[in-house]
Amino acid sequence: MLVVMQEGAPETQVQAVIDRLVSLGFTIHRSTGVRHTILGGVGPRDEFDPLDFEMMQGVKEAHRIVSPYKLANRTFKPEGTVIEVNGVRFGSNELVVMAGPCSVEGERQIQVAAAQVAACGARVLRGGAFKPRSSPYSFQGLAEEGLRLLRAAADAHGLLVISEVMDRSQLPLMLPYVDILQVGARNMQNFSLLKDLGEVRKPVLLKRGLAATLEDLLLSAEYLLSGGNYEVLLCERGIRTFETATRNTMDLSAIPVLQKLSHLPVVADPSHGTGRRDLVAPMARASVAAGAHALLIEVHPDPPAAFSDGPQSLFPDQFADLMAQLRIIAGAVGMTMAQGKGA
Ligand code: PEP
Ligand code: MN
Repeated sequence: MLVVMQEGAPETQVQAVIDRLVSLGFTIHRSTGVRHTILGGVGPRDEFDPLDFEMMQGVKEAHRIVSPYKLANRTFKPEGTVIEVNGVRFGSNELVVMAGPCSVEGERQIQVAAAQVAACGARVLRGGAFKPRSSPYSFQGLAEEGLRLLRAAADAHGLLVISEVMDRSQLPLMLPYVDILQVGARNMQNFSLLKDLGEVRKPVLLKRGLAATLEDLLLSAEYLLSGGNYEVLLCERGIRTFETATRNTMDLSAIPVLQKLSHLPVVADPSHGTGRRDLVAPMARASVAAGAHALLIEVHPDPPAAFSDGPQSLFPDQFADLMAQLRIIAGAVGMTMAQGKGA
């Protein structure tokens, strides 16, 4: 159930609608837009008439929401959601670049990486401390030590921190160190983790699963939103197809489709999306042209020596060249590059 209030409707009228929805057993999610307050009522019941609500004072319109994802649906926030994290805005007309190595490997590696990406204008430092590796024998990450090193490197260069959480048990450890929690592709449908993250008050970047449809992705986002965490970034990172020329198939059309279906900011990850360094820049450029609000890119000071995802990690000079190109493309599609410390 979606109730759109009239422009300037007083709080008493909003409250009357909320009370009525609650009395019908709905849980209320409120979206305060630039012009209208929108009340999303989520509940099991559908034996009510939207017209009853349209007759109430201060109500502009009321609709039954037929889409399976209600709070992630664009109708809940038609003007789009902007998520601000310490001055960095996702979902606005500022293009945000998040960059860094796949994994935090040690102090020197992450410090050098942070300096390099900050100098090129990145705003967020990425680096995994808990790694979801296909093989249990592969490098699994430095855990808390990795988080500490990541935070220190980011702070030294004016960057925010994004890192992957794989399990609820890692949350108490991670929360003091990270600004954005990443849910990996392999965990997109780990519903108990999503429920836990719904209770967290930190932004979550939710990656599309390897075989997930966009509706699956939006339903997973709905778990976070319905838990009360409204700060969700949707990330296209490539899907498994029959194509073998690339590690994954980067679904560029997911970017405009997600923007049509949802109000949540859309992030593109051309590194995992292609799995090959030579394809990262073309797909990053195309993602910005397609309207991505942000990019997540793997950059390593010495990719051949990387503990994970070396073949898809950019060399620092390649990243610098790419950032210069992205500035131009962003301008062509009405965006500006969010100004980083080194930009
Ligand atoms: C990563 O970002 O390093 C990662 C493991 O991503 P994904 O979950 O998309 O594979
Ligand atoms: Mn990686």
